[in-house]
Amino acid sequence: MGDHQSDFRNLPYGAQAADDTNEPDARAARRDRAVRAAVAQGVVGPDEPIAGLLDVTGIRASAAALHAAFDAVTAPGTPVLHAFAVKATPLVPVLRLLAEAGLGAEVASPGELALATAAGIPPERIVLDSPAKTPAEIREALRLGVALNADNPQELERLDAILDGATPSSPVGVRVNPQVGGGSIGALSTATPTSKFGVALRDPGARDWVLNAYAARPWLTRLHAHSGSQGMPLELLAEGLGVLHGLAEEINEAAGRKQIDTLDIGGGLPVNFQSDADDPSHAAYAALLRKTVPGLFDGRYGLVTEFGRSVLAKHGTVLARVEYTKSAGARPIAVTHAGVQVATRTVYNPESWPLRIAAYDAEGRPRTGDTVVQDVAGPACFAGDLLATGQHMPRLHPGDWAAALDTGAYYFAHHYAYNSLPRPAVHGWVETPAGPGGEDAEAAVRFATVRPAQTVAEIVAEGGAAHLDSLTTLGGATGPA
Ligand SMILES: *Cc1c(COP(=O)(O)O)cnc(C)c1O
Repeated sequence: MGDHQSDFRNLPYGAQAADDTNEPDARAARRDRAVRAAVAQGVVGPDEPIAGLLDVTGIRASAAALHAAFDAVTAPGTPVLHAFAVKATPLVPVLRLLAEAGLGAEVASPGELALATAAGIPPERIVLDSPAKTPAEIREALRLGVALNADNPQELERLDAILDGATPSSPVGVRVNPQVGGGSIGALSTATPTSKFGVALRDPGARDWVLNAYAARPWLTRLHAHSGSQGMPLELLAEGLGVLHGLAEEINEAAGRKQIDTLDIGGGLPVNFQSDADDPSHAAYAALLRKTVPGLFDGRYGLVTEFGRSVLAKHGTVLARVEYTKSAGARPIAVTHAGVQVATRTVYNPESWPLRIAAYDAEGRPRTGDTVVQDVAGPACFAGDLLATGQHMPRLHPGDWAAALDTGAYYFAHHYAYNSLPRPAVHGWVETPAGPGGEDAEAAVRFATVRPAQTVAEIVAEGGAAHLDSLTTLGGATGPA
């Protein structure tokens, strides 16, 4: 075992007994109570017409389920670090919650590293990936003791130059692209023959280059692959990790010692946007990996995982007020406050990213009856700004609430500033046990601010207000004096 491995061994975390917290029905019922409470408590309203809501209980349960899934398949004592991919939900209180649940962080920019650090995640639980690390970013990672994975030969040479013969104080690996193929969403498939990430292993000479790179650098102790995300069949992800494991064995064989002590198997477990079920679950994925690449789990390698969407997506809801309803070409349309600014991928690429929209009345109670085929539109000024097209759902009315489900990752935390629409507030919520006096259900839901809504003043400041006259006073005027 290398020195670095023990750093994250036996991390304490609040392991929870298996319960039904994340069963689909329990999850949906909890969400319904939270929506009702958000309206009743004024967390949302006419002047706060959109917010992101996070199910804290559900997040905790998913973190525990992730630990349990890998505990069930790894040899006892195997160090496993679950480094949450910060890009999925870059919100400090969320990272803090996950840290408390025993997770670390996978970061890919100075901003993400700063978020993880602000959340109190210690350097030994952080992994830096990124295909474009600057010398300053590399130096900072080494200074902090943050692990990093070099993306390409030039980056490794850059590392050599920075180290100048010294041994890095961080675990360092190389990212490889097993080139096993892509899934149904090209933009999220990172193991195609021409993906921009990692060393393309099947290219002529690439495998030899990797072997030589490790032989020349005894301090390279990790190997990394992340083969894709949404739209990737699990079998293909597993095949990529089989390639990763085989390469590690070959490197260690050549070295005559266990040079690679840790395999970073990436994230990428897809999310089911069709129902409230975790399907596939972390447990199912871990079991599949155990079956197809048993060598990952025999205890000879420490493991790092980098799951993002599969940990957070199901626990987020965008709640948006229906401002108006209308009809065009006989199609009912509900105009809401959620559109491209919070659901960018869905709006621009609806076939790949369909969202379920749930309907609630003005009091936040689930709407029933009078099902129609309607469009749910956003507030932005272009025709394609639609959360859902032709969705069969209860007819929405002005003052109702439309909820975009499964949006806890890559949605409301990924604001797109079209039309200068403000970043919505994000609130986390838990249910407190009903008091002996029989408190009502709404009062039993407690909310906490994760991030306040962006103000109009902030929008103006970010729009360069401090540089009001920078262009008019720059010179070069050619008009009449
Ligand atoms: C995006 C990314 C992840 C997380 O992917 P998910 O699909 O959210 O699990 C993990 N590792 C790397 C290198 C990534 O780029």
